[in-house]
Amino acid sequence: MNNLVWFRNNLRVDDNIALSEACKSSGKTIGIYCFDPRCFAKTTYEFKKTEKFRAKFLLETISELKENLLQKNISLLIYFDKPENVLEKVIDEHDISIVFTQKEWTNEETDVNKNIKNQISTVTFKEYYDQFLFHPEDIPFENLKDLPQVFTVFRKECEKKVAIRKTNSISSKSKENNIDNKTSIPHLTDLGFEEFDVDQNTTFPFKGGENQALKRIENYFFETQNLSKYKQTRNGLIGSNYSSKLSAWLANGSVSAKTIYWKVKQYEEQVEANEDTYWLIFELIWRDYFKYVSMKFGNKIFQIDGILNNKYDWKFNKKAFDQWISGNTNEPFVNANMIELAKTGFMSNRGRQNVASFWAKEQQQDWRIAAAYFESILIDYDVHSNYGNWIYNAGVGNDPRDRKFNIKRQAEMYDGKGEYQKIWLK
Ligand code: FAD
Repeated sequence: MNNLVWFRNNLRVDDNIALSEACKSSGKTIGIYCFDPRCFAKTTYEFKKTEKFRAKFLLETISELKENLLQKNISLLIYFDKPENVLEKVIDEHDISIVFTQKEWTNEETDVNKNIKNQISTVTFKEYYDQFLFHPEDIPFENLKDLPQVFTVFRKECEKKVAIRKTNSISSKSKENNIDNKTSIPHLTDLGFEEFDVDQNTTFPFKGGENQALKRIENYFFETQNLSKYKQTRNGLIGSNYSSKLSAWLANGSVSAKTIYWKVKQYEEQVEANEDTYWLIFELIWRDYFKYVSMKFGNKIFQIDGILNNKYDWKFNKKAFDQWISGNTNEPFVNANMIELAKTGFMSNRGRQNVASFWAKEQQQDWRIAAAYFESILIDYDVHSNYGNWIYNAGVGNDPRDRKFNIKRQAEMYDGKGEYQKIWLK
């Protein structure tokens, strides 16, 4: 009997619990990845669930995953089909007894799991949480209902009481582990997109894959030592190095948060430890926090009143929406950011906060449509971070201060000479 590793948003070989546990079991280890057509279809808001930037990044990621697995003599079966249509056949054909995968909890992901488990009763499913810095079994809250409402309380408690787990790795399997694999990676055009060149003004030339993520860490940390000034530069808007740009790899799991954490620790030992090096970990804790918030509140993070059940008089004006996404509002700073997003699939954190505040607080427009647009277009879309940040910025999430940005003042503070706006408002 053999083992199947069903890859989802854990698209890496290093520090992948599902993979390393499968490799420990007797029998062959075989990988599978499905490009799910539902992820490339149009949503109720008429834009695609995944736009071209993330689609391309994902294709590059799978290509590296396939290569990296092959180096360990593990084959990756690749399909452009729903897992529900594929897994049963693969399980039969390859004599699978256990399916190893990453544990998910948001609706769309768990629905797929349920469908599959209803279909197939002959195998055991082993699911592991593997997207966190602080493992769910280690956090100092007995119950999810005890998760603090405020980030700072969560962070301080976890920092005091939780030891970050070590990363894990696998050794090579024997050549006999390989199977005859006739599947291949689809092309961008198969997923419904035309080939495209990256915009020449892009802040960062994102390329998918585990090796690329590690290369970026090497560069941002050890080669350039930009990590040593991260806290001072992280609100920047221009260029590759004001922030780590690790979000896209983290989002599809081609690098783990733990790997980044231990690389920061290594840097702190070998180069220097300061407030800036700590701050990257601080931001990774935000990422964890939003994951726990979504776990605690379930579908509330997608609902208009959010987790606070705050009632606002939300509007929806189609013209205002078109102006917002195309960068034609009365705020040049918002426009520049929205044009960068449309042309590259990326926007800085400072930009995201401003355009979100403009849409939800200034214009009081339904934040869910804007969040769905982000879901479509972002190269680094992550369900928990996206919806967690949106409810936070819309005043229905975890911000105890319920702030509204003064966009003009923000533009003066962060783009005083208008250099960023000049790039995108041509
Ligand atoms: P860095 O500043 O280098 O931070 C390092 C890492 O910390 C990031 O890669 C990310 O994983 C994490 N991080 C940093 N800031 C945040 C934050 N506010 N919330 C959660 N994690 C954070 N981030 C996503 O990864 N996916 C999303 O879909 C997403 N949607 C967002 C929507 C809105 C409205 C806002 C305001 C923020 C959103 N963010 C999202 C958070 C943040 O803007 C990005 O993580 C960050 O800009 C990515 O750039 P970086 O990797 O260079 O970040």
